[in-house]
Amino acid sequence: MEITHLGSGSRGNSVLLSTDESKVLVDCGFSLKRMESRLDMIGVKSSEIDAIVVTHHHSDHSGSAARASKKWASTLMSNAETARRMEWGNHQNFTEFSDLERIEAGGDLSLLPIPVPHDDADNVAIIARSSEGKRASIVTDLGEATDELKKHLSACSHISIEANYEYSRLVGGPYPDSLKRRITGRGGHLSNTQTGQILNEVMHEGLESVVLCHLSENNNRPHLAESEVLMRICDSFTGDLSISKQSGPEFTHWLGQSEPERITGLS
Ligand SMILES: [Zn+2]
Ligand SMILES: [Zn+2]
Repeated sequence: MEITHLGSGSRGNSVLLSTDESKVLVDCGFSLKRMESRLDMIGVKSSEIDAIVVTHHHSDHSGSAARASKKWASTLMSNAETARRMEWGNHQNFTEFSDLERIEAGGDLSLLPIPVPHDDADNVAIIARSSEGKRASIVTDLGEATDELKKHLSACSHISIEANYEYSRLVGGPYPDSLKRRITGRGGHLSNTQTGQILNEVMHEGLESVVLCHLSENNNRPHLAESEVLMRICDSFTGDLSISKQSGPEFTHWLGQSEPERITGLS
């Protein structure tokens, strides 16, 4: 399985999971034009996308999912609450999934949606399993990791997880107090420290790669996220730590190999 982040942040999120038989997008939060140009950058035709799995209704995750699914003839998938919020019930390509029930996304790829607390959304983390039994997780937008989620992360070879804000930057910054409380609360986002603590808890020998995503442009910086997380996991982690930025795809991770391949030829 290959894992390629097409970009991540409050202005859009999307990750491509690719196997011999399947190509699945987890979230489709950029404009349709931008989704197609980013797929083009990595040599994937939009018509090759089999399914678009949407984690929750916020527009930085759901943005162009319905239009893309119609134009590309891809299956559009979400849980019931996200579908209700998005009014996808009558969409021709829509398939509903239930939390904690396995989704067969092709002969050699299955996905398990795990409910996670975040804002007023019915958000899910996605645990993807290849035919060899290796697992990758995509976990963006959560206020707090549940025991259920941590149990699954402990068995993943790859973890993509948000590191949204640096606590002191958020608290000392210009946001109103009510918004600061929402971001730091159980329903908000993870700070660099919380992400480092979760990774430390789920650390195991088989963890090959970690991608930090959904960094706030106002309240975080890549070097702050990287150093805070590394400080908490460096005693036991020998794999690759990368950061997905808002601007576009920069690397691809393969399950079974820690070092990512850099994507070249970007404008
Ligand atoms: Zn969200
Ligand atoms: Zn988000």
